[in-house]
Amino acid sequence: MLFDTIAAISTPRGEGGIGIIRISGDKSFEILERIFNTKNPNRDLGFYKFNYGFIHDNGKIVDEVMAVRMKAPKTYTCEDVVEINCHGGHLISEKVLELVLKNGARHAEQGEFTKRAFMNGRIDLSQAEAVMDIIHGKTEKSISLSLEQLRGDLRDKIASFKKALLDVTAHVNVVLDYPEEGIDDPLPSNLRENLENVYAEADRLISSYDKGKKIKEGIKTVIAGKPNVGKSTLLNSLLKEERAIVTHIPGTTRDVIEEIINIKGIPLVLTDTAGIRKTEDIVENIGVEKSKKFIENADLVLLVLDASRELESEDREVIEEIQNHNKKTIVLLNKIDLERKIELEEFNLENILEISAKDNIGIEDMEERIYSYIVEENVEDSSEKLIITNIRHKTALEKTKDAIRNIFETIDAGMPMDLISVDLKEALDSLSEITGEISSEDILDHVFGNFCVGK
Ligand code: GDP
Repeated sequence: MLFDTIAAISTPRGEGGIGIIRISGDKSFEILERIFNTKNPNRDLGFYKFNYGFIHDNGKIVDEVMAVRMKAPKTYTCEDVVEINCHGGHLISEKVLELVLKNGARHAEQGEFTKRAFMNGRIDLSQAEAVMDIIHGKTEKSISLSLEQLRGDLRDKIASFKKALLDVTAHVNVVLDYPEEGIDDPLPSNLRENLENVYAEADRLISSYDKGKKIKEGIKTVIAGKPNVGKSTLLNSLLKEERAIVTHIPGTTRDVIEEIINIKGIPLVLTDTAGIRKTEDIVENIGVEKSKKFIENADLVLLVLDASRELESEDREVIEEIQNHNKKTIVLLNKIDLERKIELEEFNLENILEISAKDNIGIEDMEERIYSYIVEENVEDSSEKLIITNIRHKTALEKTKDAIRNIFETIDAGMPMDLISVDLKEALDSLSEITGEISSEDILDHVFGNFCVGK
């Protein structure tokens, strides 16, 4: 397939050591020739090797660079590719890009390099999506899931589903084409078994989506407790411990802060509520309602209690709120550096840990506990089993599952075989949407529109 030649700055905007201009298309080498000089004009630039030299605009030097040529089809896009490593200032990268554009390239759109890799058949759509997930990956765990997808694990799984469906299609066609043969078994048992396996596997993948989403987007965790028990101190100590803070989301109200931290490769979206308490204050009331809402929507609650004081009604209120919602909770008895006064017998609390947020005691144990909770509940066996993280894949698999269910119903009701052809096609088409063999402009725009320019 032949497209025009595109170019973009592939490194982030801003100042840095180097800025990389990427060019892809059949004019790439020609463009480089026009704007790049090596010291020795007779030097063969070769392929996949760096060449030291200068970018010039009609003889006037623009920058000192390293340039590399890569020959189709062994490149990211499957087309001829040139990469120019210039100095990392934004202005200089822009200048080199401008020159490349002036000499015959078009500015690439978002994700257009990856789109070409897809259009030219080097990767399927699920792999292109994995590239984007890797770029946006927040922790090692989410990136390792994306890498599996990039490696083609999902693509291979979908291919195996399609094979089972195509085998059934072939059988149905024989039955329809040669009715006189009197094939009375509508679906031989091995074909039926394969189809049942596809159904079960699709079902498992669909239900893995929630886990995948949590790994990708984070476990919604709320630090709850009445005022002054040490919630902010705990949050700070977690943030200090975990160097890999990925984002800071400014609170939407004056009393809610959200931070993403990384517990052994799994992102935790932490909400620090300003405390749940009854108050006449209208603004505070909004805060209270919000806090309760956070508990309601949380995947995990870190309940902080002050061990140096007896339980108070405000503590009871928070505990009741958590128990009403039956939330997975880790109870943190804070301030154990002080004399212990708290008694918890009246509540049936499990999962209790003693900590001192101020002196950093018990924080590591707490992280262990959080991690094992997350792993037990959410990512069991994830190293062996494929997990999907993309809503588009989930929707397509649901359509596949529905179509297969229809097929079984049609067969079991003894209906004519041509009726299942429609559902077979529907199931196959839905699977093809995942890999992109069938794709509308809308889907492609959606997938590649989320990319950065230059990827
Ligand atoms: P929040 O209102 O729940 O966010 O509580 P803060 O984090 O602001 O803490 C309230 C007070 O308790 C502060 O003076 C903290 O220094 C203190 N504090 C927090 N954690 C500990 C702890 O583990 N031991 C002791 N002795 N004091 C603590």
